[in-house]
Amino acid sequence: MGFLAGKRALVSGVASQRSIAWGIARAMHREGAELAFLFQNQRLEARVRSLAASLDSDLCYECDVASDESLEAAFSSLAQSWNGLDICVHAVAFAPREELRGDFVEATTREGFRLAHDVSAYSFTAMAKCARPMMQGRPGALLTLTYLGSSRVVPNYNVMGLAKASLEANVRYLAGALGRQGVRVNAISAGPIKTLAAAGITDFRRFLEHAERNAPLGRNVSLDDVGNAAAFLCSDLASGITGEILHVDAGYNIMGMVESGPD
Ligand code: NAP
Repeated sequence: MGFLAGKRALVSGVASQRSIAWGIARAMHREGAELAFLFQNQRLEARVRSLAASLDSDLCYECDVASDESLEAAFSSLAQSWNGLDICVHAVAFAPREELRGDFVEATTREGFRLAHDVSAYSFTAMAKCARPMMQGRPGALLTLTYLGSSRVVPNYNVMGLAKASLEANVRYLAGALGRQGVRVNAISAGPIKTLAAAGITDFRRFLEHAERNAPLGRNVSLDDVGNAAAFLCSDLASGITGEILHVDAGYNIMGMVESGPD
């Protein structure tokens, strides 16, 4: 029996088989969790339904995390099938593509800042508001995804780094607020992985090359690496862990001196 047997997990952010959320869903399914999915809009519906079906789920709900109405509608639809929720995975982020390149000062606008923070950081609080009543009386777990650009300057990551810093503070405040209810809140800071969202960052290929060259493990991380850590963090095996940012990056974040490579 898997270590998530009997748990019900809602997963957002599956856009393709390369999505980090997909790696997480696969690992949770393998460990025995029942799954439900959120997808942003109808453009993604058929793909998400077919991926969900491959993990024995037909619970898929449209949800734009930038809209309170959309979040409330999705959770109330979910509540018609499930009378409780154990795990909620927030794996969504957005910033305008033109702000993810070049000089940070020139590229960043008030509207881009607002959008990046709304979709990538505030939405985790908004999701927690919806999940909280469904987690009443059970040991719930909320999980989000962040990146080292929250605390280090990474070329082209720009305004998304600020949004991730806010998201990480969000993890700590949510953990503080929900702990007495028995709900744990954590984040995984993943190393670079080639996904649709990552493709929006100029020169993302260099993120991958740099991390592979300099990470102690000498490689990039896989969807399985992140998925397995996520399944653990959201399970009762991690019952004493909350407010934590766990790096799943082949150790890259510990390096104080790195080799520059051919450009
Ligand atoms: P992905 O496959 O493109 O997933 C991003 C998801 O966010 C997509 O499903 C996207 O839907 C969704 N999304 C964007 N705006 C939304 C909204 N308003 N409402 C609902 N959903 C929305 O990319 P990913 O790399 O797996 O990203 C997942 C998370 O991991 C993000 O938080 C990202 O910052 C984080 N992360 C990624 C990396 C990496 O290197 N890939 C590293 C560290 C952390 P659409 O496709 O419809 O826009």
